[in-house]
Amino acid sequence: MSKTSLKSQPVSGKTAAETVEQRVDDLLKKMTLGEKVGQMTLFTAMWAETGPTIDRNFLQYVREGRCGSIFNAYTAAYTRSLQKVAVEETRLGIPLLFGFDVIHGHRTIFPIPLAEACSWDLALIEKAARIAATEASAEGIHWTFAPMVDVARDPRWGRVAEGAGEDVWLGCRVAEARVRGFQGDDLAAEDTVLACAKHFAAYGGAEAGRDYNIVDVSERTLAEVYLPPFKACVDAGVRTFMPAFNEIAGVPCTASRALLTETLRQKWGFTGVVVTDYTAINELVPHGVAADLAQAGELSVQAGVDMDMQGGVYFNHLEAQVESGKVTKAAIDDAVRRILRVKFELGLFDDPYRYCSEKREKRQVMSLEHLRAARIMAEKSLVLLKNENKTLPFSRTLRSLALIGPLAEADAELLGNWFGAGDGKQAVSVAEALRLKFGDSLRVIAAKGCEIYGGDTSQFEAAVAAASEADAVLLVLGESGSMSGEAACRVDIDLPGLQNQLAETVARAANGKPVAAVLINGRPLAINRLNEAVPAILEAWFPGTMGGSAVVGTIFGDANPSGKLVMTFPRSTGQIPIYYAAKNTGRPISPDKYTSKYLDCPNTPLFPFGHGLSYTTFNYGPVQLSAASMPMRGEIKASVKLTNTGTRPGEEVVQLYLRDLVACVTRPVKELKGFKKVYLEPGDSANIEFKITSADLEFPGHDLAPIVEPGEFEVMIGGSSAVCNGQRFTLLPDK
Ligand code: BGC
Repeated sequence: MSKTSLKSQPVSGKTAAETVEQRVDDLLKKMTLGEKVGQMTLFTAMWAETGPTIDRNFLQYVREGRCGSIFNAYTAAYTRSLQKVAVEETRLGIPLLFGFDVIHGHRTIFPIPLAEACSWDLALIEKAARIAATEASAEGIHWTFAPMVDVARDPRWGRVAEGAGEDVWLGCRVAEARVRGFQGDDLAAEDTVLACAKHFAAYGGAEAGRDYNIVDVSERTLAEVYLPPFKACVDAGVRTFMPAFNEIAGVPCTASRALLTETLRQKWGFTGVVVTDYTAINELVPHGVAADLAQAGELSVQAGVDMDMQGGVYFNHLEAQVESGKVTKAAIDDAVRRILRVKFELGLFDDPYRYCSEKREKRQVMSLEHLRAARIMAEKSLVLLKNENKTLPFSRTLRSLALIGPLAEADAELLGNWFGAGDGKQAVSVAEALRLKFGDSLRVIAAKGCEIYGGDTSQFEAAVAAASEADAVLLVLGESGSMSGEAACRVDIDLPGLQNQLAETVARAANGKPVAAVLINGRPLAINRLNEAVPAILEAWFPGTMGGSAVVGTIFGDANPSGKLVMTFPRSTGQIPIYYAAKNTGRPISPDKYTSKYLDCPNTPLFPFGHGLSYTTFNYGPVQLSAASMPMRGEIKASVKLTNTGTRPGEEVVQLYLRDLVACVTRPVKELKGFKKVYLEPGDSANIEFKITSADLEFPGHDLAPIVEPGEFEVMIGGSSAVCNGQRFTLLPDK
């Protein structure tokens, strides 16, 4: 067949979708079994390694029509050269799909996803994903393995950095924003990429917070906590899905027909592609559900996995499995149809090189506009955890500053993990940002004090001298970029090494002068000691390329922090899992002995979900309800008066929590159901109103089908999940 006949032919009287289906079917008829299996095969190029096995012959496989997609290849020139092989040297000329982990930026690196979520700014989160897609697509990429939408309540797990935190409702909103940002509203546009909802499902529930470990959750927790963000992605139009590495109750997700076919496709109506995680089909053997790779492949196809990432299992075994009748031809055709469909949707059959644009690459990659957006996002992600005696902001007229800590000069570390094609050398460190902002007008006395980990105190003396000499002290502490992310879990989530001791020593030496700590890290930390030692703590996470500038601008009051935590900060690792939407239990904590509590630690966290201070202060009036009761199909309005009672303009994230007081199954003591981010000038007030409908009161009943039960509900509105100024209303039964 001629390759040009794959090009778009408008078919009169047909919708675009019907035309795509027709073209997919036509192409499928011409393909051999080997070519079909090729479309189900994804191999990595050698530009980035994200897993254990690399097969260096990937280009040969493309040439043979045995590999239809490549990941970890980018730049317009490189992807063009690979695409040329697929289009010009194979029998059918089917274009390659290029995937990459574009997680929080491609070259312009934004704060890690957990940090971005702390901005509670959905428009900005969407914009960050849009910019990432723009840069990635200019370098030939069609597909990002993001967003990660795993609800995560165990900060020992390193991958909490990649998600949106512990909350289900917020997780859904952030997931939708990211899908919209990556995919835009037209996949065929040259600056949009396929998104991938991962890791389906409950990867965040890894036992003991250890990556890849088993997950054993109830069907209820799966339905209520882990699945909703994935469903939100499907509803937002996500075109690809990735099953998780883990098992759930004995069934590895990669082999789970219940998840991948019954829930995802049949119940939710997903029509896109399911791609495995890295060598996840092979891992069915060590999981112990497949005797060998051939059987592992068979189980995956039957479960509904369309594409094998890097494992080579489909590549090596699938043809034989079809020939022996173990896998049906129809199952192969279904998978290939789904893969070809997205290639058509991207417009690759019309112009396979449309995403490899040197011109766009030059103009858009790390453009000023993108860097500006990254800085704004970094500022909005900062969470002011503590600010006693208005320690922050530091005065702009300080004459000297002691800059202490292992991360003060760090550039590459600021990118955290999964930083795409980002270049650490281009990241602005805190030290550099100080130089850029103040030049010679501020004397910076730098002393590292100690390394991120290790027990060497030899640099303490210089740090003490710096702290004694300077007008104020800025500590920059935290984790290295590789201490979170994949395969980067910790059993003790306090600051590593001697950093607590350094902070205590330096704070003593400062002898009452202003001391503030900035944290650079990828997960909530158990920072009791630091909290005791210093009066002010600014959580900066891994803030990305423009991180240092965002931090310095905020420390000196050019920007006012407005971020709020999306994951609870425990007092101790032993409290994990700890999250605000907990159940009351039959013996809620009280001074009585036999109640649910610890002997050696309060139940409360150090900093709750939703917490975050500002340089100004906000006052919340009492919650007002528009009525005392609400009909089943009606609505009720809840409002509060919010006043900026401080001296600076600022933004506040006003959070709405609901509690169902009595239901057929136990309900959390509080569930986030809405928020508004509000800007107020000093002295100004605003009436903040939320509409509550029965959809907000829904939960899975005994049989896990969604229900709404009449009865009493409590409405709480405030600046963190610790709020408890409730008002109650009654939901009336249907007449
Ligand atoms: C990770 C995925 C990632 C994939 C490809 C895996 O190890 O779990 O999140 O998308 O590698 O790099």
